[in-house]
Amino acid sequence: MGQEQRDGSGRRCPICGRGFLRPRWVDERFSYEHNGLIYEVETKNVPLKDCDHCFETFIGPAAARIRHDSLGRALGLLPPSEITTIRTSAGWSIEEFARIIGADPERVSRWERGRLWQDLATDKLIRLLGVDPHILARLSGNGIPTINADPNLAEEAGSVSESHGQ
Ligand SMILES: [Zn+2]
Repeated sequence: MGQEQRDGSGRRCPICGRGFLRPRWVDERFSYEHNGLIYEVETKNVPLKDCDHCFETFIGPAAARIRHDSLGRALGLLPPSEITTIRTSAGWSIEEFARIIGADPERVSRWERGRLWQDLATDKLIRLLGVDPHILARLSGNGIPTINADPNLAEEAGSVSESHGQ
C-alpha cells in the first residue's frame, strides 16, 4: 500500500493481491452502433494497467475519457470536453448555456459528463457558439432567444420559406 503512486502504477493488484500493476498504452479499433449505424472508432495511447502476476487488465477514468472522445470524433460530434471548453470560455454556467441554446440543463450536464450524445443539430449549434458566443444574440433584439417564439417572427419565417418554395 505504501508503494501506491498517484497514477495507480506500482500498486498491488486488487484481484490477486500478489502482483503489481504495470502501465501500458494501446491503440485500439472497435465498432460502435449509434442510431442504427455502425461506426469504426480508433483510439490512440489509451492507458491501461496490467498485473504482472495474474495478468488482469485494469481500465481507469483516463482511458474511458479517451475512448469517449474518440467515439465523438467518429460520430462527427463534439466530445464532452470540447462542449465544456466552449461553454466555460464564454463564461456561462450550465444553466445559462442551457437557456441560450434552448436545452434542458440536465441534458447539458449529461453531454458534458459523457453520459449522453447531443443530436447533430444541437452539435452544430454548439459549434457556432464556439466560433462566436454572441451569434445567437443576433436572432432577436433583446439578446438570448426565448423559448416562447414571437408569433410575428414565426409568421415572417413562414412567408420566407413559402417564397423559397415557389
Ligand atoms: Zn493480479
